[in-house]
Amino acid sequence: MNERDAIHDGTVYANSDILKTANVSKLLLSGKSLEQLLLEDHREVAKADENNVWYHKKISRESAESILQEGLQKQGDMSGLFLIRDSTVSSNDFALSLVCKGKIFHFQVQQTCECFYRIDDGPIIHGLDKLVTHYTGMANGLPTKLSSFCRGSIPPSTCRKFGPNNLLHRAVLEGKKDVVKRILAYSTCPDVNAKNKIGSLALHDAAFHGYYEIVAQLLDRGADVKIKDTNGHTALHRACVANQPRVVELLIKKGRSVTSERCSQTGWVPLHEAAMRGHINCIKVLLENDATPFPRNDDKLTPLDLAKTYGRRECINHFKNYEIHDMQTKQADWFHAELDRQGAMQMFEFHGMREGLFLIRPSKKHFGWHVLSLCHSRAAFNYEIRNQDYEGRLVHFIDDGPYLLSLEHVVYHYTRQMDGLPCMLTASLNSTQRVIEVIVPRAQTSDNSYPRPISQPDPPGLPPRPTDDLYSAPNKNNPTTPEPVTPPVPAGPIPNRKPADAEPQQTNLTMIPLSKIKRGSELGQGEYGSVLKGTLITHKGTFRSEKIDVALKTFHDGSVENANSFLAEARVMQSLQHACILSLLGVCEGPPLMLVEEYVPMGSMLDFLLDHEEKIDVKTDLYLWAAQIANGMKYLETQRLVHRDLAARNILLKDMKQIKISDFGLSRAVGTESDYYKATHGGRWPIKWYAPESVNYGQFSHASDVWSYGVTLWEMFTFGEPPYGEMKGIEVVQYIEHGKRLLKPDRCPQTAYGIMLKCWSWKAEHRPQFLDLAKHFDEDPEYASIHDLLRQASRRE
Ligand code: AMP
Repeated sequence: MNERDAIHDGTVYANSDILKTANVSKLLLSGKSLEQLLLEDHREVAKADENNVWYHKKISRESAESILQEGLQKQGDMSGLFLIRDSTVSSNDFALSLVCKGKIFHFQVQQTCECFYRIDDGPIIHGLDKLVTHYTGMANGLPTKLSSFCRGSIPPSTCRKFGPNNLLHRAVLEGKKDVVKRILAYSTCPDVNAKNKIGSLALHDAAFHGYYEIVAQLLDRGADVKIKDTNGHTALHRACVANQPRVVELLIKKGRSVTSERCSQTGWVPLHEAAMRGHINCIKVLLENDATPFPRNDDKLTPLDLAKTYGRRECINHFKNYEIHDMQTKQADWFHAELDRQGAMQMFEFHGMREGLFLIRPSKKHFGWHVLSLCHSRAAFNYEIRNQDYEGRLVHFIDDGPYLLSLEHVVYHYTRQMDGLPCMLTASLNSTQRVIEVIVPRAQTSDNSYPRPISQPDPPGLPPRPTDDLYSAPNKNNPTTPEPVTPPVPAGPIPNRKPADAEPQQTNLTMIPLSKIKRGSELGQGEYGSVLKGTLITHKGTFRSEKIDVALKTFHDGSVENANSFLAEARVMQSLQHACILSLLGVCEGPPLMLVEEYVPMGSMLDFLLDHEEKIDVKTDLYLWAAQIANGMKYLETQRLVHRDLAARNILLKDMKQIKISDFGLSRAVGTESDYYKATHGGRWPIKWYAPESVNYGQFSHASDVWSYGVTLWEMFTFGEPPYGEMKGIEVVQYIEHGKRLLKPDRCPQTAYGIMLKCWSWKAEHRPQFLDLAKHFDEDPEYASIHDLLRQASRRE
């Protein structure tokens, strides 16, 4: 691509001025030594920069004042004497120290974005050099305009807009790699990152013209890939503008160029440049090197949008067929389905607010969205991860950041680049609060140290801005009635996994071959298919085999939305071992896909309550079952599992002395059943068993399981009556909100009803814990015999 093309695109790289004076090679041929040329060049550059040596690096306010005092003594009492120094307060800012009528004033020169500066409410100016020029021309709010300066040095290239052309700039534009190599070898070589008269670095020009070897040499000498030209372009942008795929690869691999670096004027990343121009090979290189496929510019347009606008067919197809690769990160390491903002904060505090520590949790404000909680500068920041449909895919994004194709993709992206966050994600907390270090191959990271805050983080020390705090901050109109949101799809138990469970792949899920299973009669109809009685043939030693009764829960084709997540939940079930929890013996791939469970001869407790009321003694049987359920749930709590579907229908009776809690873990992968409220997102909800926070915010916890436990107790003491009778789900929600609760069943002792009422406390923290409930049953003399029965039951297992 030539210069005219660049201009045609609106990207002006007018180097003709430099080229006129260039020809370093000719000068060399004419007999001048390179050493001589470099010395001459050095003098010329210094002369051209004579008016730019007002920079005094990192000196204190007091040092600045004594330098200015000294200057005043030398030059006489004059207004407008100044110097510029690094800000002592903020690393990207500067300070202007200025004399006016014998007094010294100090002004913060604030960086508004990379290489753009302003003083107070004054104009935003590109480059410190241009800011000085501006205030030399007019005071514009300062007590006086700048007139002369105390001599220091020239400011760093990163903060100036232009600079004088030097020998290196000229040699690079000629494309003579040998001459460039020789220049770079001299100690008198110009600053490799110096800007030229049009604000370009040598690297920018080398990248634009595709001078591969020169780019490599410049990188070796410390050329900074982050510095932008006057168009706001990095070298990588330039290589993409000019269709230089080899250089693109070199800049990424050798120079660790950041593919997500945005043009300061337009928000375009290099991929936008390539897509708009139809430079398919650059696009391929960028995507192969981990560029995120759907970044958005300041107009919220992706490269695909631009490719469409400009009719770049090949590029469009490439983006549309983009397949997400293995993200090398898994939800078990950072996803917390139950956690709220405060919980996240507590976890972070426990781990010393380690920089870059993060986790992801569901948003309480918007169903289906998530929140990235991140530690930075010893404060917690919360970023909302939204999602929406884009080109037929569900994409996730933080503020105006890139569209990412999954939560894993979000984590993958921000573990490699800040891209607007205050820091990169460096370590996650899993649900057992274990810190999982993020391991990123060095070549894939970048500290892209020009953060672009997309969700303005709170200053350290202040409590973070709420993003999802409906739960802790009820809505203004009604402080006690939080705004209901779309109910979430039940997500099944969330394993707060211990190290062994943290990697589901490593948990041995017993796969049972179909040949070892004999299918028998139907026991009942489950939510997902029929439940059959079956026989499992197990081998004991070489010759002996044993047949055991099993229940086979079959899954009809199409009912398992996600076989993988179904198997993950099965793994969780299999890891549980307790007398009061139904055992999963294994999974048979079938077809049909089956869960092989321990057989529980008396079937569902709800059916038994309904069918055999006369056989049930309130004081012995119901109390025993209530105690056993509390103990089973207490065990789940120690395993940090939330059941989410505790109800009489999901309790099985092995015999009159032993219940089994079943049906946890599957409600997300599959499911329809009449007790489930149909949520807009396709799930069904047992809303009458749900705590208010579960209904309103999709918040599930051990405390919400306690609410459901109270409803289960009510079912038991009414011998299977449907809770809330004919009331509809929404009526139940209002009934609860008005402080009303299920009435005391006729045959229910007051103590048991008292426990139910406590379970239905509006505030989760006022409800008893399973630990308390189990203790209560254990310690209450009324239940003394139950305690023994429980122990016997445990021994029988
Ligand atoms: P579910 O899909 O769990 O609702 O099961 C439907 C019905 O199948 C239950 O109401 C029970 O009667 C029966 N059932 C389920 N699991 C078992 C089991 N492990 N042992 C015996 N019967 C079962």
